[in-house]
Formats: sequence, C-alpha cells, structure tokens
Amino acid sequence: MSRFLREEMQRATPYLPGEQPRNKDYVKLNTNESPFPPSPGVKRAVLSEYEKGLNLYPDPECLELRTALAGEYGVDVENVMVGNGSDEILDFCFEAFFGGGIPLLFPNITYGFYRVFAERYRLSYREISLNRDFTINIDDYIGKKANIVLANPNAPTGIALTPDDIEKIVGSNPDNIVVIDEAYVDFGAKSVSNLIGKYDNLVVVMTFSKSRSLAGARIGFALANADLINDLQTVRYSSNPYNVNRISLAAGTAAVKDSEYYKNNCKTIAENRDAFSKKLRRMGFTVLPSAANFVFAKHCSVPGGELYEKLKAAGILVRRFSSPEVEDYLRITIGTNAQLEVLLKKLSVILGE
Ligand code: PMP
Repeated sequence: MSRFLREEMQRATPYLPGEQPRNKDYVKLNTNESPFPPSPGVKRAVLSEYEKGLNLYPDPECLELRTALAGEYGVDVENVMVGNGSDEILDFCFEAFFGGGIPLLFPNITYGFYRVFAERYRLSYREISLNRDFTINIDDYIGKKANIVLANPNAPTGIALTPDDIEKIVGSNPDNIVVIDEAYVDFGAKSVSNLIGKYDNLVVVMTFSKSRSLAGARIGFALANADLINDLQTVRYSSNPYNVNRISLAAGTAAVKDSEYYKNNCKTIAENRDAFSKKLRRMGFTVLPSAANFVFAKHCSVPGGELYEKLKAAGILVRRFSSPEVEDYLRITIGTNAQLEVLLKKLSVILGE
C-alpha cells in the first residue's frame, strides 16, 4: 500500500476472483465459464468488426446490442442497458440506488461482490442467514422496507427461487429497489424479466459470461423500466460512456442472433449437471439441487480443503470458499463430459486413498 491510498480504500477487502492459471494446463472448473466456444456467428462478427476499424470509438448508446436484447426479451430499447460485464452493472446499481440510510439486504452466502460493493459504498447492510438446507427464506425479504439484492439462482449454492417468490419480494417492497442477479438463470431457473413492466422497483441483471460463452468479452446488461435505466445511464455516463468496446458489442449482438446455439448448449450443460450430480452422490457427496452451470458439493468424510488441494495437485481446479458454513463444499463448474469424467476418475482415486 502506498502512502497515497485514500483512507476509505485502505480498509477495502477486494473481491477475490477465481484463479486464472498461467503456469499449468489445468482442467479448469473454477470460474463457471462455458466449456463451449462462442457461436460461429460471433467469430465472423468479431473478425469483421476488426476490419471496420478499431481506431474509432464504439457507439456509446450501444444501440445495436440493446435493440437485439430488447427483441430477445420482448421489451423496448429504453428498458435495456449494457455494461462491461454484469459486475459493472451491479456496481452501477449499487451506486445509483443503494444508500441514504435505507438498509440493504442480501444472503450471508451469496455472490461475494455484493459485500464488496456494500463496503465500498459504505452502506448499512444486513447479510441474512440462509435456511439450514441453503435455501433462501423469502419471509426474510418480504415487506422489509429495505433494498434487496438476490442472485437467482443463488451462487455458490445453485439453488433457485421461483418467479412467484421473487414477485412477492418485489411487490412487498414497493418503495425500495430489488435487484435480481440472473447470471445463471439460463441453466434451469425462470427469469423475472417479464415483470419489469409491472414493477418500477425491479432491476434484472444478466450476463453473456456464462450461457453465452463470452466471459472474455465482458458483457452484462440490465433490464428495468425506462426511468431506472435512465438512472443507470446517468451513472454510466458519469464514469465511462465507452464501457463496452466495439469487438464486444459486435460479439454480443451476434450472440443474441444465435440464441438457438446457446440454448442447446445450456440444455447440454443442464443434462450433464444432473448426471454428474447423481455420480457425485453415489461417491458420498451431498450435492445441493443446482439450477446453474455448477454444483456445490460436500463429501461425507473428506474435508473440502483436502479435496481442493488434492484435486489441484492432480491438475483440476475447482472453487472453494473459506467461510465456515461452506468450507467443506466445493463449487464445481459443469465443464464438458470429458472434463467431468477426468474429475470423477481423480476423485475416486483420492477418495480411495
Ligand atoms: N453475478 C454472479 C452471481 C456471478 O457469479 C458472477 C460471476 N462471477 C457475476 C454476477 C459477474 O459476471 P460477469 O461480470 O462476468 O458478467
């Protein structure tokens, strides 16, 4: 730390991303990327965008991509904003809507960035315990006169709420903002994007990083009523109006047009997840019921830390979180069947030792 760092940032606990290893060719199942490449249409769009000229700034309105997304989700362009990954969109939501002495609620076990943002914006926030089975108790969020951020499906549990439950939360806090982070929604949960016309306090956040195989392009988006989107645009234009680059805009637009390709991939990943979960259970794992592209699993006898290290030594990277409630769990991204088979083989060797 230099002697120049602002005092507030000296106290910051930054988000710790999953490892992106450079030194070794791991079977990489630790950051919930898609194992499938982007569609052929994306490749063509990226190459042709290069030809069009990177010497020019991108469209700050991101109109082509927003129009494509509006068509895909049956909303108007005014209901869509895009950003540099959904992390940036979430950051904009925190900056735009949370604070002013109104408490912010989110689960104690959820996406780690919510706490990081809450700390950075010095919000008064409460982390609400999950039920013992890692489900969210919706009564903890109903009629609370609080702002709320929920991942659906939740991460790292993978467990999803129903749209009815989410609607109860949104409808019972009409004067507060509810952000639903649907990063993993395409793998088996139901989106509440159809509710943005009905509720003026709902923001739905999605990403191209998971179901659309574009983690490297950094594209996220928000769907909400036009006033909320305008507010988010105010934040965006106050920080970086060119937050989504030309190559990513072209890739994203092409990806939306190729939605059949991605839907098929999501179906494959969901099938692989369910088959893989069964195999893990047979090996003595408790596997939470996942609607995402990962599973969260704990072995009946071998501690999570030991499994994590042994898998890593065997060339397989998964994710583990250190908080005591989940330290024995591993979060395993659903890779290709071949990757999962390698993992299962190594696991049976480790467990047999
Ligand atoms: N929300 C959740 C729940 C996530 O797990 C992630 C991925 N780490 C994100 C948002 C952010 O994804 P991205 O910035 O790649 O869109």
